[in-house]
Amino acid sequence: MHIRRLDADLDLGPCCACSREGSEVRTLLMLDRKAHIPGTGWGNAAAGLPADGAIAVLCDNCLETGSELTQVVYGFVASKERRPLEELTEPFGVAEAQ
Ligand SMILES: [Zn+2]
Repeated sequence: MHIRRLDADLDLGPCCACSREGSEVRTLLMLDRKAHIPGTGWGNAAAGLPADGAIAVLCDNCLETGSELTQVVYGFVASKERRPLEELTEPFGVAEAQ
């Protein structure tokens, strides 16, 4: 799993593990599953990956304690919508990049 940490002044919506909201929610996780909506997730143009990878966000506390994700971002991060992680079954990322 790739982890990208963002600056704190972005409002990413509720944490995907504990649903807390606020400035402590500032870590983006790039998951190795395909997002609900193609084109709204992470990708890697250099590796020929479309932006279809699912994204989750975590608060500082959950990142530290390793809390398990239960939700993922649905649509663009800015929409702040969440859906259950278990809905995502299609793999994405590593396999396609090779
Ligand atoms: Zn949390």
